[in-house]
Amino acid sequence: MFYKVDRVTNNQGTPTISLECPHCGHYGTFQSVGSDSAVTTGPSTKNFGQRKCPRPECRGHIFTISQGSRLELSYPPRLISFDSTNIPDRILESFQEAILCHGNNCLKASAIMIRKTLEELCNDKSASGKNLYQRLENLSTQIVLPNELKEAMQELRLLGNDAAHIEAQTYDEIGKDEIEISIEFTKEILKGIYQYDSLLTRLRSLKKKEE
Ligand SMILES: [Zn+2]
Repeated sequence: MFYKVDRVTNNQGTPTISLECPHCGHYGTFQSVGSDSAVTTGPSTKNFGQRKCPRPECRGHIFTISQGSRLELSYPPRLISFDSTNIPDRILESFQEAILCHGNNCLKASAIMIRKTLEELCNDKSASGKNLYQRLENLSTQIVLPNELKEAMQELRLLGNDAAHIEAQTYDEIGKDEIEISIEFTKEILKGIYQYDSLLTRLRSLKKKEE
């Protein structure tokens, strides 16, 4: 986002801004950190300021640009949340980068990192196949994954259908929705591979204690 700064006036009040905290995920009315600057940019004047999360446990800092109390932009962005329990470091690193790219609207980069996450996951589990799609199919026979998800997998162009590599042009065509669905799909696969097992182990040990 580009704003040309034509004129700045200080101490122009700090309008109330409510949003979902990018740090802790809770929704709240953010508290001001100093006064906003009133920045005249073209025909309009906007508030450029800083806020902090109202939760005492968080108090995370954000930058904001608003028109009155209507928020236009805030930084850092709210990222898609996920449980990282038991996910190997290499896979986790790629997936976190995919989510970070999505949050910053870098969709092609996010698509590439989602594929990298899935490829690393297949490497980790030695899933074989000529391309990513076949490797994921092979993987899905080894893990707990709802049938509907297995079937829906081929709908995602990001997974490459049956091509060995997806074309550069395909990345251009992938929209935010498809990226979000692919991230959710990857989360389910990660759960199926690395997290159900540990949940089962914990449940079983709980049962043993009761006996
Ligand atoms: Zn917070």
